[in-house]
Amino acid sequence: MAGDFETILYEPDGAVATVTMNRPDMANAQDSRLIDELDAALDLADADDAIRVVILAGAGKHFSSGHDLKAIVGGEGADPWVALRETPEGKFQHEKTMYFDRCMRIHDFRKPTIAAVQGSCVAAGLMLAAMCDLIVAADDAVFSNPVLRLTGAGVELLVEPWEIGIRKAKEFLFTGDTIDAQEAWRLGLVNRVVPRAELTRRTRELADRIALVPPVTAQVVKDTLNHTGTLMGKRDALKYHFMAHHWVHNTATALDALAARKAKGSMKEVIAERDAGRPRPQP
Ligand code: ZN
Repeated sequence: MAGDFETILYEPDGAVATVTMNRPDMANAQDSRLIDELDAALDLADADDAIRVVILAGAGKHFSSGHDLKAIVGGEGADPWVALRETPEGKFQHEKTMYFDRCMRIHDFRKPTIAAVQGSCVAAGLMLAAMCDLIVAADDAVFSNPVLRLTGAGVELLVEPWEIGIRKAKEFLFTGDTIDAQEAWRLGLVNRVVPRAELTRRTRELADRIALVPPVTAQVVKDTLNHTGTLMGKRDALKYHFMAHHWVHNTATALDALAARKAKGSMKEVIAERDAGRPRPQP
């Protein structure tokens, strides 16, 4: 059964359901509707006993450019959370509900999941892909998380140490440098790299193989592997970072940068001024 969605496609086919973020003109930036619809699509996949594996994909050139910042801080969106974000309490509630809990729901989803990643996979795009059990990357996939320079303390879930190791995570986050598909494979961030034109087919082939495992077995082993991560401290570390991330959100440094962005309409200019050491007029 297909849902009635605006920002995603839900396509159950045999034992595999494909959920495709479908805002290609926005590089699949994630606004609240898209996040809600992803969650609803997982409800469908969870309830459908025929579905054994879920593929998470992005339509168009890019997997996802991350949070749809225009919807949240651009001051022009009708995103229902914008008003709530005016207070630290509301901001926390928004990010806990829409980012942390929704991501962990994917991480903990009982059926195996595979992300099919092409083009840019930025910040919260990487956070989302990392929630899946496996990642298949197209050879044009590029991973980045440049938000530290923008003042943000990573995104809400700091997945990098678990995906690429702590030392590489430090370099990746401090520099904002990109990781291409081959490097991502070498670091263990992705399982396979395939030609861009074959991404859909090759991801589906992998899903079909996983679907041969009896569901109860696949689900129990997934749970054990996730629990191993929990015992290694993954869940606690993610929660710790989420709280720290919010502390930074509410610092004078971050609030000032946000106010400057609203005044200028672009973070680029704000950062350029800061890099040049030029004093900014106070907003
Ligand atoms: Zn945040």
